[in-house]
Amino acid sequence: MTFNEGIQLDPNRVKTSRGGRGAAVGGIGGLIALIIFMFTGVDLSGVLGGSSTDTASGGTIDLSHCVDADAANQYVECRMVATAESLDALWEQALPQQAGVRYEMPGFTVFEASVNTACGQASSATGPFYCPADQTVYLDVSFFDTLETQLGAENAPLAQEYIVAHEWGHHIQNQLGYMAQVNLRDTGPESGAVRLELQADCLAGMWVRHAASTVDPETGVTFLEPPTRAQLEDALTAAAAVGDDRIQEMTQGRAFPETFTHGTSEQRMRWFATGYEGGTVQSCDTFSMSGADL
Ligand SMILES: [Zn+2]
Repeated sequence: MTFNEGIQLDPNRVKTSRGGRGAAVGGIGGLIALIIFMFTGVDLSGVLGGSSTDTASGGTIDLSHCVDADAANQYVECRMVATAESLDALWEQALPQQAGVRYEMPGFTVFEASVNTACGQASSATGPFYCPADQTVYLDVSFFDTLETQLGAENAPLAQEYIVAHEWGHHIQNQLGYMAQVNLRDTGPESGAVRLELQADCLAGMWVRHAASTVDPETGVTFLEPPTRAQLEDALTAAAAVGDDRIQEMTQGRAFPETFTHGTSEQRMRWFATGYEGGTVQSCDTFSMSGADL
């Protein structure tokens, strides 16, 4: 989607971090004791061929130029700032209206190589994730390249935004108490883990539905132009690329449904579409579905 001229961005909405590529930091290795919610069901170091992405050393990620729509439409790091502000504006309204809960803004840290969190240390191979212990979304934008080169989706703006909105969905689930109900040791097609992930996809679709009518509170301008069919297709393709079945077939040769934690490609696309069409938190109630309807 394209951000509208006239919006004003606050680069301070997003924190940045650049860590070393310590040998001890292997994907989720540093995180196993603690609960996080990853965008994919796998440690991407396998997908990345054993090493995490190479990033230039030194310097920090600079967001100071992320102040307007031109920057958001041109630079991926600024697109993160704009997407965060759009998500804040939507959930500020929708959460009290639809669920009677006051929205608390999650933290959002864009990092390179590795990052320290209240859930432990993570690397780029972890992929985007949400840490409930510090209520923060963590994302290395190099994941978007991985999405294209390794997972076969298009590295397109709406695909990137869908991923951020999915992680925001986890924060909403945390606020609504869904997260606490789920036993994450439980895996499989009808597990709480899968229901939680599909619900996050649905909440991301819900954001896309409303993004073009959500207004920047600072300027009164709507954040985004309505998505085109081709842009929606980019988000759906990204959802399909991270289905458990697709990733397991790629990394292990076949799918093992009893180990599913995120749902199949078909389910991830369908729940994104359900949120887009339904447009409400209620339409995303994956927990009340029978397994056959999930
Ligand atoms: Zn997730």
